[in-house]
Amino acid sequence: MELRCQIQSYAWGKCGSDSIVASLMKPSNPNITIDEKTPYAELWMGTHSNGPSLLKDENKSLDDYIKENKHTLGSLVLDKFGSQLPFLFKILSVNKALSIQVHPNKSEAEELHKSQPSVYKDSNHKPELAIALTPFEALCGFRPVSEIKNYLKLIPELSVIIGEDVVLELFTTVSEGPLNLSLKKCFQKLMTCDENVVAQQLKKFIERVSSMGPVIRQLLNLNLLERLYSDYPGDVGCFGIYFFNYLTLQPGEAMYLGANEPHAYLSGDCIECMACSDNVVRAGLTPKLKDTNTLINLLSYKCEPSSAKRFQPSREDDCTEVFRPPVPDFAVSRITIPPGRASYTLIERSVGSILIIVNGKAEITFSTTKVLNRGSVIFIPANERVYMKVLCGCHPMLMFQAFANV
Ligand SMILES: [Zn+2]
Repeated sequence: MELRCQIQSYAWGKCGSDSIVASLMKPSNPNITIDEKTPYAELWMGTHSNGPSLLKDENKSLDDYIKENKHTLGSLVLDKFGSQLPFLFKILSVNKALSIQVHPNKSEAEELHKSQPSVYKDSNHKPELAIALTPFEALCGFRPVSEIKNYLKLIPELSVIIGEDVVLELFTTVSEGPLNLSLKKCFQKLMTCDENVVAQQLKKFIERVSSMGPVIRQLLNLNLLERLYSDYPGDVGCFGIYFFNYLTLQPGEAMYLGANEPHAYLSGDCIECMACSDNVVRAGLTPKLKDTNTLINLLSYKCEPSSAKRFQPSREDDCTEVFRPPVPDFAVSRITIPPGRASYTLIERSVGSILIIVNGKAEITFSTTKVLNRGSVIFIPANERVYMKVLCGCHPMLMFQAFANV
C-alpha cells in the first residue's frame, strides 16, 4: 500500500532542495517541481486530518482504507485505540528554531481542551521521539542547577530581569524539593518579565560580549545566541539556552520528549514520531501564540545533564534496532541493510506500520511486487511478512518504520 504524503510548508523549514523533505519527495513524485524559495518543513505520514496520507494507486485516504479494513491495524491496536492509527510519523527539515515548547500529559490535555478549545484542539497527550538524520541541534530539559548558577554569575543582565532577590534564593536553596521551587520562580520571572526590559537587557548582553575572546564565546555559546537573536530579535527565548540543555544529536541518535519536558528544535533534519495530537504550549522563539503561564505551570523543573537526554534503542537483529518510548502510542525502528547484502525480511509486526525509505532501492514482495525508491512510503498491514530484494547495494539501505508500541 504505497502512500502519497503531504508536505507542510512552515516558515522555519529549510528551503528548496536543501530540505530533506523536498529531496525525499522528488524520486517517488517525479512530477513535483521543487521551488528553491519555498520552505519544505515537514512531511506527514499518517491519518491526521490536517495532512492525511492517500493511497497512491487509489483515490482514497489511508484513514478510509483503515476504517474499511480494520484488521490491518492488528487486534492489539483495535483494543487499545479503536480503528485509528494512534501515531503521526514525520520528517522534519529545520532551518531555524521552532519555539520553546512543552506538551501536556493526558489529564492536563483534557483540561486544556475543555478550558481553551480554540487553542488546544484535542484532548490527547503528545509525547514525541526525534531521531537525527543529519546533525540535529535542540534544547531539551533543564540543565543541572550548578550550570544554571554558573550562567547567572556570568550574565548579570539575567539577574536584572529575574531580580536579585529571586536569584539569591536559588543560590541559597540546597535541598531537592525547594530547589525546584526556586528554579521555577527564577524561570517564571524571566518568562513573564516586561518584553521591553528583556529586549533591552538582551541587546546590552550581546553588545557587551561581542568583542570577547574565543574561550568566553564558547563558554556562553555565543554563536548559537547570535543566531537565535538574528532570527528572533529581542525574544526572551534567546536566554533559554542558559536554562535548558543544548545538544547536537548525531545521525541515528534520538531524543524522547515526554509530557512536561521543555524543548526546542534548533536546526537539522530528523525523523519524528508522536501521539496523534496537536497540543503544543509555546513560550518563546516563535511568532505564534505564547501561553507563558500554562507553560510555566506544566513544566517539570527536573534538572538533568544533557547526557541523560539521549534515548537509547534496543537491537532486534543485525539490521534493525528499535526505539520504544514508555508510551503505547508508538515505537520506531531504524533498519540499516549493509552494502553488499542482497536481501532482508522485515521483522513481522502484529500491528499495522508505516515504513519510509530514506536511502536505497529495493523490490518488495508481500501481496504484490513493487519497487521502492528513496522517499517511498508504504503502509504495511499487521502480521505481513515483507521480503526485500536490494536493487542498489553500493550504499547502506536506510529505512524507518513506525508502529504502535502495544
Ligand atoms: Zn514538541
